[in-house]
Amino acid sequence: MSDLYAVMGNPINHSKSPQIHSAFAEQTGQDLIYSAILVPLEKFKEEANSFFRNGLGLNVTVPFKEDAWQYADTYSSRALRAGAVNTLIKKEDGSIHADNTDGIGMVRDITINHDCAIAGKRVLVLGAGGAVRGILEPVLEEKPLEVVVANRTVSKAQALAIDFSDIGKIVGCGFDQIEGPFDLIINGTSASLSGELPPIPTSVIHAETTCYDMMYGAEPTVFNQWAESLNAAATLDGLGMLVEQAAESFNAWRGVRPESAPVISRIRDSLVIPKPH
Ligand code: NDP
Repeated sequence: MSDLYAVMGNPINHSKSPQIHSAFAEQTGQDLIYSAILVPLEKFKEEANSFFRNGLGLNVTVPFKEDAWQYADTYSSRALRAGAVNTLIKKEDGSIHADNTDGIGMVRDITINHDCAIAGKRVLVLGAGGAVRGILEPVLEEKPLEVVVANRTVSKAQALAIDFSDIGKIVGCGFDQIEGPFDLIINGTSASLSGELPPIPTSVIHAETTCYDMMYGAEPTVFNQWAESLNAAATLDGLGMLVEQAAESFNAWRGVRPESAPVISRIRDSLVIPKPH
């Protein structure tokens, strides 16, 4: 029988994880089945218990990343700090180990796929939600000169800066307190989802700035369009992060690192530009 893996979320129809993991399995010759499971709100524990009777690993997406954290028995350091996990691994003794691969996935996408070093750079991170909490440890481990976290709710940015201050130089502030320019700007707000732009000054961008929006789609995000209009050196979206976090999970489950580039291209080609009504 094939080994069983799945992603749990609500909603889950939009998830590209089955497509990505099936491509990884095909590429690496691993015998596994990866499915998408719609979990009713408040039912994560029951569904996870039921899955792990036979299943070996889970990805977890919105809104269950904190439930998954509660569910686990042991944690990677980055999962412990993030307080949220996207990967659960059943160990041989039956216990459940948790990891958060979102941040390392994004860092690998920026530094390896796009050959953009973070070391020594001035980095601006927009947002202070779950995704940003998940990326701060891997970003700070790259040894940037400084990380400025700016958020609409200023206290959340300040709290994150305190929580991660032992790893590297990090400050938290509001959008109106940002003092540019920056070498790398990461948009980790969900503003792009509603076509909005966080209110940040144009002075954050200089000729060498790389802009990274964690969101992705068939067309450039509002944030990346704005950065392009200001002649940023490069604008990148979060599709590579999505595939890289999956590759990291796959590696944790199977001990094999798949090649992500062909899968990123395949998923990129499948993105459809919505037709106007
Ligand atoms: P959360 O809901 O936890 O946090 C949302 C953040 O966005 C908060 O900081 C919030 O500010 C801010 N925000 C929301 N709307 C606006 C706005 N109109 N203007 C300014 N700031 C705003 O979301 P997540 O952290 O889980 O996700 C954030 C983004 O990252 C999403 O776009 C998601 O799709 C993307 N993501 C991408 C992944 C990938 O693999 N590519 C993986 C995970 C996430 P406040 O605190 O004031 O409410």
